[in-house]
Amino acid sequence: MSGKDYELERLRSEMDSAQRDIDAAKARLDPIVARRDSIKSQIESVKYRISDIKHSIEEEYRMMKICYQSRDKYDAENHRYRAQSFKDSLQREYDIKKGYYDELDRLKSDFDSALTGLRSAKERKQRAHEAFSARLQMVKSQNESERAKWKEKSCKICGTTIRYHVDWSRVPDLCKSCQEKEKAKWHETTCKKCGRTIRYHQDWSHIPSICKDCKTTNNR
Ligand SMILES: [Zn+2]
Ligand SMILES: [Zn+2]
Repeated sequence: MSGKDYELERLRSEMDSAQRDIDAAKARLDPIVARRDSIKSQIESVKYRISDIKHSIEEEYRMMKICYQSRDKYDAENHRYRAQSFKDSLQREYDIKKGYYDELDRLKSDFDSALTGLRSAKERKQRAHEAFSARLQMVKSQNESERAKWKEKSCKICGTTIRYHVDWSRVPDLCKSCQEKEKAKWHETTCKKCGRTIRYHQDWSHIPSICKDCKTTNNR
């Protein structure tokens, strides 16, 4: 009765397209989050190495002082040298840590833009969903009131139910099959006088042999 609603179809495909954007944004977020987690754990390792190296430096300086105090200049210089080389390693670790933090900053802005995309896709889907629900409700109630315009009556001959629409200009009294049967009861013959076609019903007690026009003329 009521066919496809094109606005409903449009809103459904809008929902689908928003869902594809959601999936795409999530697919963008996943590797960012994975990389961020991996960098965070690498930063933890760097911090651990840094505190380790700091202890080693302190230890070398402590040993250096002891050696100086015991006038062991050679070992003292040795410890100073090793403390310096630990300091070089410490600087390298600081550089590595800074590199990780820089990458975290870049990831943060990638993450933010993917997240913004995800949120706006979710909002689009939500809006389309709401419009879809409202439209569906409207179409349903339209269909219902359209259905209410269909009424039923009984065929005057066989009693079969006839469905008709209240807007029809003519409501049939007979069902389709009775209409066909009634039509078949009408036959044609030819006027004996003028040759014109005369339609008659088989139940008529008298089958006319001349047409109405000729009959009128005759009676005059
Ligand atoms: Zn009938
Ligand atoms: Zn005639």
